[in-house]
Amino acid sequence: MENRQGGMGRLGRAYLTEEEKANKPKVTKALLRRIGAYLKPYWKQMSLVLLAIVASSVFRMMPSILSGRIIDDGLIGRDLRTLITLIVLSLIVTLAANLIGVFESYLNTWIAQHVTFDMRNKMFSHLQSMSHRFFTTNNQGEIITRMTGDISGVSDIITNTLSSILSNAITLIVAIVAMFSKNWILAVVGIIIVPLFALPTKKVGKTRWDLTREAQARNDEINGILNETLSVSGQTLVKLFNKEDVEYERYEKANRQMIRLNIRERMAGRWFRVALNTFSSIGPMLIYLVGGIMMMRYDSSLTVGDVTVLVALLGRMYAPVNSLLGIQVDWIRSMALFTRIFEYYDMPAEIQNAPDAVTPDHAEGNIRFQNVFFAYEPERPILKNIDFSLEKGKSVAIVGPSGSGKSTIINLIPRLYDVVEGAVTFDGIDVRKLDLGFLRRNIGMVTQDTYLFNGTVRENLLYAKPDATSEDLEEACRKANIHDFIIGQPAGYDTQVGNRGLKLSGGEKQRLSIARVLLKDPKVLIFDEATSSLDSISESMIQGAIDPLIESRTSIIIAHRLSTVQAVDEILVIKDGSIEERGRHQDLVDRGGVYTELYETQFRRAEPK
Ligand code: ATP
Repeated sequence: MENRQGGMGRLGRAYLTEEEKANKPKVTKALLRRIGAYLKPYWKQMSLVLLAIVASSVFRMMPSILSGRIIDDGLIGRDLRTLITLIVLSLIVTLAANLIGVFESYLNTWIAQHVTFDMRNKMFSHLQSMSHRFFTTNNQGEIITRMTGDISGVSDIITNTLSSILSNAITLIVAIVAMFSKNWILAVVGIIIVPLFALPTKKVGKTRWDLTREAQARNDEINGILNETLSVSGQTLVKLFNKEDVEYERYEKANRQMIRLNIRERMAGRWFRVALNTFSSIGPMLIYLVGGIMMMRYDSSLTVGDVTVLVALLGRMYAPVNSLLGIQVDWIRSMALFTRIFEYYDMPAEIQNAPDAVTPDHAEGNIRFQNVFFAYEPERPILKNIDFSLEKGKSVAIVGPSGSGKSTIINLIPRLYDVVEGAVTFDGIDVRKLDLGFLRRNIGMVTQDTYLFNGTVRENLLYAKPDATSEDLEEACRKANIHDFIIGQPAGYDTQVGNRGLKLSGGEKQRLSIARVLLKDPKVLIFDEATSSLDSISESMIQGAIDPLIESRTSIIIAHRLSTVQAVDEILVIKDGSIEERGRHQDLVDRGGVYTELYETQFRRAEPK
C-alpha cells in the first residue's frame, strides 16, 4: 500500500502554479482521448501489464483463500500430507505472484519511460519552435519545470497511479467474489464495515491536500529565493548591498514554515493510521462473532476455515479500498499535469515557415524596410512608419535615445518578431515569405549581451560552423583580435568560458562572438555596439575586430561610438519609434537637430581621448 501510494508523494512535490492550484482541470473526453493517444503506441505492452496485474493480484489472494483448507483439511482434519501440499502450494503462488510483479514493474517502467521520452522530445522540439516573444514573456523556471518536473510526473502517473488503480480494483473484485462464494452472509457483514473507511480517508485526504498545497506555495517561494540569491548576478547584488542577513532571514522564515507544514502533514497521516487500525480490527471481530453464532446455532456446514478465510480476505480489502479512496487526489493532479502539458503543446508557434516559403539559390544581402509599423502589445505602438533600404555591402548606423526602438528594428530582420504593418524584405522578398533557415543562415548578429555556452572557446566557435578546421578558427579569431588572448591562456582554445561565458570580460566575450559570426560568414551583419564606453585600447581592439566583419557585408549597426557613425554610409536617427533624421555624420551634425544633441551628449563623450 505504501509503495503504491508513492506516486502521490512524488507528484505532491511537483510544482503547481497558483492559477492551476485554484482551477481543477476539466476532465473531458477529448482530454482522455488525447492522453490515450500517447499510450496507444504501447498498447501491446499495456495489455501484457494488464494480464500481469490480473495474474499477480489473483495469485496474491490465493494464500488467503487456501488458508481455509489449511485449517479445515490440514490442521483440524489432521492430514499432514494435505497440510504440506497446501503450504507448498501457497508458497509457490506467492513466489509466482512476486515474480510476475517484477515483470509487471519492469514493463510498467518501460512504458512510462517511453511515453515520457516521446513527450519530452515533442515538448523540446515544440519549445524550440516557439517564438522570441514566448521566451521573453514566460518565466524560464516555469518553462524548465514544464520540461522536467511535469513530464516526469507523467511517468509517475503511469507507473504508480494507473497501475495502482488497476491492481487495487482487481484485488478488490477478487476478494469480494471469493468472500461471497464462501458465505454471502459473512461477506455482507464484513463488507458493510468497509464504507466506514470513507470517513477518515476523506477527512485526512482533504487535510493532506490542503497541507500539500500550502507546502507547494512555500516550496515555490523557497525556490524563488534560491534562484534569485544563488545566481551569479543575484549573489553579486546581495554582496554589494550587504543583504546577506536579510536574505538569510527571508530564507530561514520560509524554511521554518516549510518544516512546520511537513510535520503537520506527517502527523495527519499518523492519526489516519490510528483510525484505520481501529476500524480494521472491528471488521474481523464482527465476522468472528457472526460466524461463531452461525456455526454454533444455525449452520453446521460452516467451518472454522471458512471464517478464517473471510477474515483474511477482509484484511486484504482494506489496503485497496483505502488506496482507491485516496486516488482521487492523484487523479486530479494527474489530469492537471496533462492539461498543463497539453496547454504548452497547443501554444502556436507565432513565427513559422510559410507553407509556400521560398529558398533562393543564393543571397545578395539587400535589406529594405517598407513603411514598417510594429507593437509588442496592441495598444502600445513602438515603431512607426520605418522606411529605409540598404543595398548589399552598404552599412547603416541606427542611433537614438534609449528606448527609442533601435533593438526592435533589428529584431525584425531575422524575424524574431513579425511586423504589424508594412514589410521587411531581403533581396526583394518579404522575410515572411522566405524560408526561415535560409534567412537566418544569411544573417549574423552580435548582440550586447553576448551568449556563450558553458564549454570551451573552441566549442563555442564551432557552434557557428561545426566543420571548421583549427586554422579557420584561428583565422577568425585573429581577425576578431581575440587570438592572442586565447593562446595566452594555459589551455588555449580549450579554455572553459564558464557559465554563460562569465569567466571572460565583456570585451573578450564580444570579440569572441565577433569571431563566431565571422565563422558563420553571413551576408548581412547586425551589430549592437556595447553602450558602455570602453578605454582606448579596448576601443581599438573592438574597432579592429569589427572592420573585417563589416567590410563587404551589408551591415546594420546600433552605434554608440563616434568612429562607427563616421564610417557608415547612412545614419538613421530614431526617436520614439520614427526615423527623425537621416544622412551622413557631418551633415547631421551641422543640421542642429536630434542628432547634434546626441552627438554632444553621447558620441563626443564616449570618444576616446
Ligand atoms: P536601448 O538603447 O536602451 O537598448 P532601444 O532603442 O534598443 O533602447 P528597444 O529595446 O527597441 O529600445 O525598445 C523600444 C521600446 O519597446 C521600449 O519602450 C521597451 O520598453 C519596449 N520593449 C522592448 N522589448 C519589449 C518586449 N519584449 N515586450 C514589450 N515591450 C518591449
